[in-house]
Amino acid sequence: MNYKIPRGTFDIIPPQSAKWNYVKDVFRRVASSFGYEEITTPIFEMAELFERSSGESSDVVQKEMYRFTDQKGRTFALRPEGTAPVVRAFVENHLDKTAAHSKFYYMGPMFRYDRPQAGRYRQFYQYGIEFIGSNNPYYDAEVIALEQMFLKELGLKDFRLEINSVGCGNCSKEYEKALREFFQPVFDKLCEDCQNRYENNPRRILDCKVPSCKELRHGAPSQLDYLDDDCQDHFEKARLYLEQMDVDYVVNPSIVRGLDYYTNTAFEFIVDSLGAQNTIAGGGRYNGLIEQIGGRATPAVGFAGGFERLILALESQGISFPEELAPDVYVIAMGESAESYAMRPMQAIRKAGIYAEYNPDKSSFKSQMKAADQSKARYAMIIGEEEVTLDKPMLKNLSDGTQENLSLNQIIDRIKDN
Ligand SMILES: [Zn+2]
Ligand SMILES: [Zn+2]
Repeated sequence: MNYKIPRGTFDIIPPQSAKWNYVKDVFRRVASSFGYEEITTPIFEMAELFERSSGESSDVVQKEMYRFTDQKGRTFALRPEGTAPVVRAFVENHLDKTAAHSKFYYMGPMFRYDRPQAGRYRQFYQYGIEFIGSNNPYYDAEVIALEQMFLKELGLKDFRLEINSVGCGNCSKEYEKALREFFQPVFDKLCEDCQNRYENNPRRILDCKVPSCKELRHGAPSQLDYLDDDCQDHFEKARLYLEQMDVDYVVNPSIVRGLDYYTNTAFEFIVDSLGAQNTIAGGGRYNGLIEQIGGRATPAVGFAGGFERLILALESQGISFPEELAPDVYVIAMGESAESYAMRPMQAIRKAGIYAEYNPDKSSFKSQMKAADQSKARYAMIIGEEEVTLDKPMLKNLSDGTQENLSLNQIIDRIKDN
């Protein structure tokens, strides 16, 4: 065959798809219990939305964004992340002027032209939470507690939460000044990227993966020593709420967020056993973003997580997923009249919410019974000439072998009772 899946993408095939649905269901349930409602936005947006929100100089915009021009010459991009589209929808629907609070969750595919590697894809699936409308540090703690509850509900073990505060526009200026002073004597030894970051975004030097830059940043000043009183107070209160909600965390001052609109709390959930790509969710407060993309200044906090790494972590820890779907009843019809008779009770059973399986390709009674056993069905509904005459299919319990001719209503009641 000539057709192959695009590099960096993957199919989600049964039974794997059942695991994905299970994880999504748990996320929906936990998000709902905190009052978050689902929002779905298009998978492509005007490219400019991401250029404004991610920063024109960011790797995402420079190298990783899937851009395309449509028939009318407009430039769009496949979304590389979920927050900017949610904020665009929030502003476009005037929620910045009407809603006191907005609580959204989303799930869906994101796209980045990146070198594919374990746990990293070009089409990847994220879930996320966005709380918009308050600067209260309770909400920083709320979104973190939600993610922690989600991971715990799934049974994930050995993960940890790291938090930091990146300050606000005022105190991060002071901090960036201190960073420049620190790196100034070794400027020539920084990698080319970091030399570019030095002026515009020196915090990102702390995030650089180049080994020599890692060396050079030993002893660099910590953001936490440069927080002003308000930011200090915000961080302390967020931490207090986390402690009151029994959410364990460690403070990691090296968590950086590269863009101006990020403020205050930043956090990551990490599973060490995943290796190099060990962050399964991350987020923080983004009080400056809504104004940046043209809305009214509105404080917000949220996070995004990756389904691939999460499911990989669950599998590697041997966490059990719900059993594969087995039929409640396997329909066996012998002969032409039995087969045409069988269609109606089978549809009535399905309409009652019971899973009925049927395979018209199996010929002999023996091969049909074998298929019923292999399907792990609880019952077989057997229909031969006699059953057609009686208008009562035979219901056979496949675990104890008992069988009985029953009316359709009796059959439905019997299956539902067990
Ligand atoms: Zn501040
Ligand atoms: Zn560097």
